[in-house]
Amino acid sequence: MKILVCNAGSTSLKFKLYEMPECKVLATGKVERVGSADDAIFGYCSCRTGFNIEAAGECIPGYKEGIERFLGCLTGGDGAVLSDISQIERVGYKSVLSKGHYGVHEIDGGVLQGMRDFMALAPVHNSAYLNAIETMQAVLPKAKHVGVFETAFHRDIPMERRIYGVPFEWHEKYGIQRLGYHGASHGYIADVLNAEKKEYGAISCHLGGSASVCGILNGRSVDTSFGMSLETGLIHANRVGDMDPTMIHFLEQEGLSMEEILEGCQKKGGLLGISGVSNDLRYVLEAADQGNRRAKLAVDVFVTGIVHYIGAFFLDLGRLDYLVFTAGIGEHSDRVRNMVCAKLAPLGVKLDEEANRGCRGGAVISAEDSKVCVRVIPTDEELGIARRTCELN
Ligand code: AMP
Repeated sequence: MKILVCNAGSTSLKFKLYEMPECKVLATGKVERVGSADDAIFGYCSCRTGFNIEAAGECIPGYKEGIERFLGCLTGGDGAVLSDISQIERVGYKSVLSKGHYGVHEIDGGVLQGMRDFMALAPVHNSAYLNAIETMQAVLPKAKHVGVFETAFHRDIPMERRIYGVPFEWHEKYGIQRLGYHGASHGYIADVLNAEKKEYGAISCHLGGSASVCGILNGRSVDTSFGMSLETGLIHANRVGDMDPTMIHFLEQEGLSMEEILEGCQKKGGLLGISGVSNDLRYVLEAADQGNRRAKLAVDVFVTGIVHYIGAFFLDLGRLDYLVFTAGIGEHSDRVRNMVCAKLAPLGVKLDEEANRGCRGGAVISAEDSKVCVRVIPTDEELGIARRTCELN
């Protein structure tokens, strides 16, 4: 079955066409700066023929043009991998959030309405996906369109870890609850571990521009650091993590507008907000090394947050066989992995310093006598989406 995976950002689109269940990538594509009349970037790569283009200065005024450009490459020219776009049976979206639809769903009017209902919780993501889905549905009317919501992997988290201490009617009426995100990534990590072992406890640390920790018991998420919105849990590159809600009211009384407060939490917070240096951890670490105290504080806040969740999830799980690092920071920063693991000695975690430093791609980085197997597993969110899309009956 040919499955197209679509990842939509506010001004970008990424595509991967798979042959499933073989998990074979047939072609990839990307559009950056969607909306530009003369400065968009279009990339396409055919895994079948090796044909590869990366063109800048393109006119791609909207999602429709970007999608059509990609589909055109799939069926015509030197990089063609399909004889007709109708061969695409399913399209899977790395969609984020839809009220009442927290799993993997064939997209219908109700799912789209749920995305509109929760627009305030994920405005950038939900508007991008609504646009991409509606455009794709018009271009591929016969395909099955599947929303693999980022909340899906966390659907089994028990209610006692899901419910906030707010009036219960808020949960019933407005859907207020902890939902969790990065489901495609943590789900992919579980896929990798499931292939090796049936019964295990694992903690997956997805540390990237957006960061979360997830406790996994026998392949299922039992808790995660994200709450209801993307501005929760760990601090992120430029988004606040968990924050006392009363601070918002207090800051308003201090004279900040709601717009300024939201901007602080959603764009000027996190590593950037604390360090004042950058939202990129590489620059924050560099500044910390040069003696910048706020940069060091930002790194410490980040690491401490990760350790807190690992400690809590260890008790939720009752066992810890694997500790996994993934995503940009998790896969590439031996320093962060080292700082986190150094605080986990009470759990019997012991790193192999050399393996950690030399790690490129996936590897076991714990010492032989470590009680927990510490691993770096490069995430593959698109493959996770393709699998969930393929599995849907
Ligand atoms: P992602 O969102 O998964 O693409 O991760 C992107 C982030 O990974 C960037 O913002 C960087 O801060 C971070 N990153 C990538 N490589 C490194 C590295 N070697 N050391 C520290 N941070 C890194």
